Amino acid sequence: MDAKRRKLAWVARQNFQGWACTECAWVFSVSGPPVGKSLEEMKRNYEQQRDKEFTSHICTQQPRAE
Ligand SMILES: [Zn+2]
Repeated sequence: MDAKRRKLAWVARQNFQGWACTECAWVFSVSGPPVGKSLEEMKRNYEQQRDKEFTSHICTQQPRAE
């Protein structure tokens, strides 16, 4: 697998809208309501969670949808 080539990309399809990996079928799914005392904090937490999950996912373990 090529971990350096993959990127986090915003995708807008007919049945899905959100953050996805450019190299496999991984998508970021929010677990639970946003956490934070302010909108800014929620946004920061969301981005941190997204980046953490993206970094830790393994491309070869994700089935390719298309
Ligand atoms: Zn991937």
